[in-house]
Amino acid sequence: MNKTKIVATVGPASEDINVLREMINNGVDVIRINLSHANHDFCRQIVEKVNILNKELNLHVGIMFDTHGPDIRVGKFLNGSALFQKGSKIRIYNKEVLGDNTKFSVDYKEIIDDVYLGTIIKLNDGKVSLKVVDKDFSSLICEVLNDGYVFDNRGVNIPGIKLSRPFLSSKDKEDIKLACELKADFVALSFVGSVEDVLIANDLLIEFDNDHIGLISKIETERALDDIDEIIKVSDGVMIARGDLGTEVPAERIPGLQKKIIAKAHALGKVSIVATEMLASMETSLVPTRAEVSDVANAVLDGADAVMLSGETTIGKYPVGTIQMMEKIITSAEQDINYNDFLQKTMKTEKQDTTGLISYSVAECAMRLKCKVIVTPTLSGYTARKMSRFRPMCPIIALTPSDDVIKSLALSFGVYGVKIDEFENFDHIQNISKEKARQMIEHKTGDKIVITGGYPMRAGRTTNFLHIDEL
Ligand code: PGA
Ligand code: MN
Repeated sequence: MNKTKIVATVGPASEDINVLREMINNGVDVIRINLSHANHDFCRQIVEKVNILNKELNLHVGIMFDTHGPDIRVGKFLNGSALFQKGSKIRIYNKEVLGDNTKFSVDYKEIIDDVYLGTIIKLNDGKVSLKVVDKDFSSLICEVLNDGYVFDNRGVNIPGIKLSRPFLSSKDKEDIKLACELKADFVALSFVGSVEDVLIANDLLIEFDNDHIGLISKIETERALDDIDEIIKVSDGVMIARGDLGTEVPAERIPGLQKKIIAKAHALGKVSIVATEMLASMETSLVPTRAEVSDVANAVLDGADAVMLSGETTIGKYPVGTIQMMEKIITSAEQDINYNDFLQKTMKTEKQDTTGLISYSVAECAMRLKCKVIVTPTLSGYTARKMSRFRPMCPIIALTPSDDVIKSLALSFGVYGVKIDEFENFDHIQNISKEKARQMIEHKTGDKIVITGGYPMRAGRTTNFLHIDEL
């Protein structure tokens, strides 16, 4: 049983229920819908299929809605594209014009006020860079810094600039409303730039009376990096969104940033997801490159809770084969995690209270006694999340009466939720823990199990017992 979770984006290559079933059977924990491409009809269909499969397979695969966000796009070009040449001058209009190699438009009116002379504007995933050299009331005049093609509707990145448009567009708000209606488990917020952005999304969830959805801040702008600690504090998790982040900052900074962001999220008890191009060559080949294998393994070794697939499962030729490969790499990399190192690091950032010390002791016992599994009854998911933070060597089974709580744990390293009826007494907790562990975990008689939690069970958050038993 792997502990690192897999998020797979759904698209034309994977929307068929049989493909989704195979992907889930091979280890997908969360299905992501990218609202930059998906319409509401598509969202409804996918959520319905995942609900059917969860029932059929007796699983709790989570659903993540990923917002379009406040991105800027170029307009249309004559014949669909234009070749920009280094040194030439180009006008950017904030009203619609048909583009060519002297002018084009963007879908953001305030761009003229928001940028300065000298600001760098990047087009088409950063393949072409422009420098603003002059502006008038309806256009920007830019110098082209390198040769390159730009195509219809491609993205525009303006690193370091705070846009004056609101963080959530009316489309984003409608999309989040649908996420609430369809009981999605996570909303990933594209292009988060500040704490306020996350709080705006949180206010919207409150307005929709939703206390279940976890907010994942996508770190993909330079501005987000400036405010990273505060953003993590107000989020339920972060995604290292390397696609756009690699356009905003030099791509060679990504490996270091990835390690730092994962460590910060871990220290603050939040989940982290590493995303984009993890197994990109598998869009067309069943064999990944050695570099991609290393990339997935290194994300695991860095301590990420989850790894994510995008193009590989949306438009790739081998969505199921890619999941199988990812699982194989995770299984192997998890053998090489220095669990003791994580344990000691976690303890340094943990409160020295009863809950913290019991969680530490549970992870330590599990490691020293080579326990097969940790079982924890939990009402809110808190104990299971806390336990996950200590990165024990064995899986954590979270027993809870709530389907929503189980799904909210879908991104947490090592945690597998199981639904049970109400807890009766301590004996009942012990018996049901052993029963579920025997069903879920490969074991021999006499293998050890740790049971931990708070007793008596109530909404308060104290973990106060550690019980070692045998299967
Ligand atoms: P996207 O986000 O796939 O929605 O662009 C991920 C990324 O930028 O890496
Ligand atoms: Mn992105």
